[in-house]
Amino acid sequence: MPKRYDVIVIGGGHNGLVTAAYLARAGKKVLVLERRPRVGGAAVTEEIFPGFKFSMFSYVVSLLRPEIIRDLDLPRHGLHILPLESTVTPMENGDYLAAWADHDDTRRELYRHSPRDAEAYDEYGHLMHFMAQAVKPILGMVPPDPTSFAPGDLAALFRLGKHFRGLGAERLHALVKLMTMSSADFLDEWFETDVLKATKSASGIIGTFLGPRSPGTAYVLLHHYMGELDGVFRAWGFAKGGTGALSESIASAARAFGAEIRCDAGVAKVLLRGRRATGVVLENGDEIAASIVVSSLDPRRTFLQLLEPSHLPPDFVADIKRFKFRGSSGKVNLALDGLPTFTCMPDGAGGKLHRGAVSISPSLDYVERAYDDAKYGEFSRRPYMDIVFPSMIDPGMAPPGKHVMSIFVQYAPYHLNGGWTDAQREAFGDAVVNTVESFAPGFKSKILHRQVITPVDIERITGLSEGNIFAGELALQQLFFLRPAPGWAKFATPIRGFYQCGSGTHPGGGIMGASGRLAAMRILKDGK
Ligand SMILES: Cc1cc2nc3c(=O)[nH]c(=O)nc-3n(C[C@H](O)[C@H](O)[C@H](O)COP(=O)(O)OP(=O)(O)OC[C@H]3O[C@@H](n4cnc5c(N)ncnc54)[C@H](O)[C@@H]3O)c2cc1C
Repeated sequence: MPKRYDVIVIGGGHNGLVTAAYLARAGKKVLVLERRPRVGGAAVTEEIFPGFKFSMFSYVVSLLRPEIIRDLDLPRHGLHILPLESTVTPMENGDYLAAWADHDDTRRELYRHSPRDAEAYDEYGHLMHFMAQAVKPILGMVPPDPTSFAPGDLAALFRLGKHFRGLGAERLHALVKLMTMSSADFLDEWFETDVLKATKSASGIIGTFLGPRSPGTAYVLLHHYMGELDGVFRAWGFAKGGTGALSESIASAARAFGAEIRCDAGVAKVLLRGRRATGVVLENGDEIAASIVVSSLDPRRTFLQLLEPSHLPPDFVADIKRFKFRGSSGKVNLALDGLPTFTCMPDGAGGKLHRGAVSISPSLDYVERAYDDAKYGEFSRRPYMDIVFPSMIDPGMAPPGKHVMSIFVQYAPYHLNGGWTDAQREAFGDAVVNTVESFAPGFKSKILHRQVITPVDIERITGLSEGNIFAGELALQQLFFLRPAPGWAKFATPIRGFYQCGSGTHPGGGIMGASGRLAAMRILKDGK
């Protein structure tokens, strides 16, 4: 007699694992099916070159919801976040802008560039703190739909309205600006130092096919800002052992609650009886039955690959087809013989530079020009980059005396003119390495091995459509009650017993776990 499960979760990325852990904790018999040989999805650690371990895709942790860390007791399952000490932006004139862990040091550094900006900095920080606090409750709730007149939606909207009115007029105006403006315009209202605006605005472009001067990017800036505030662990940091260790900690919690996790088990289709999900069929043809099926795959794969579009309402299929992915990010992972020396700070501030992030965002024009290339189907010749040296924070990532360097890059458009060939991948890798070399001469000679990841590689390895790192762009028209489609942002789907729990649902991408948790809550509520 084949085993029968209450719930099958398709995909063992961190969201699928969170859903599984919460459902198993509630006493459900849960099976996670993961296509790859390991769990984690875009949050994996791999020994790409012997002795050198990489957080292959996502590399910093900031957004993971504190309630998930608490509920699943993740530190007991091995989660350990190590703080990031600084952000240094080398400038093209040989100077730099630095933000240090010590607030007074950062203020002094800003004062060197602009006393006015140093004064504005704290006020800006307070405002963003309030804005993030204002929006945060939405991250932890099923998004109410303002176009619905269901009593639940009306009540939730009423509560939200009250919450927002409590902010006061000035902060509400700021919130509207954040929702509508470009990050460059928003930051222009606060600061005059170009390199400061460029470095801050970079958070607004990550995972989007937009430039810092595109409207809508100010919200993305806020989305990333939220992680800097959570109090459970220190803000932005590394998971010891890489982001794969974070996924493993969630998997361990799920197993401890009784969930079963099967790797090398790709799901080909969701089985239906009429308009109800009854299980899945694996890529090897095996069928597994369950009362509930949950997909953590992105909306395109969930609805257009695991199901036949003919099983879904045509309007809904049209909405899913319209959902935009447009991957724009790449990654270059390097094994190094030694650390690079940046011209702007030859002593590396006693190691602080290499224990933090280096942002290649010397000016707003630089970042916008990087976008210009992508807009017309090319990768950026001089890209925006966020660089970290994980082996400086967690020595276990590289052999003694050697280092790993992680370079997150924009822009690398999925739809590249002529397509992504091996030669184009290497040319993109060269553009990245040559740009770093221009800020750190001699760096190239320290490279032992290099892995270049394009959006096409992200799609091939993780399954994220068009290589979009957030399972669909974080653009306002694809957020809240519109993610992934109007009317279907509450984790249920038009198929009974079939749910969605990945980053393509509210509140969106990043290692946050919020989608996975909210989906589990919804499933448990429906089961009552
Ligand atoms: C290059 C890159 C850099 C990033 N950097 C950061 C960062 O520094 N910080 C941050 O917070 N976020 C970052 N992100 C975003 C973050 O990693 C993702 O938003 C998040 O990991 C997505 O989690 P998920 O569980 O929703 O989906 P995924 O991680 O995509 O998980 C889906 C899982 O489903 C599996 N799967 C696919 N098809 C099937 C199938 N048919 N059957 C069974 N299993 C299947 C996949 O193998 C995968 O394991 C980055 C992402 C990328 C790609």
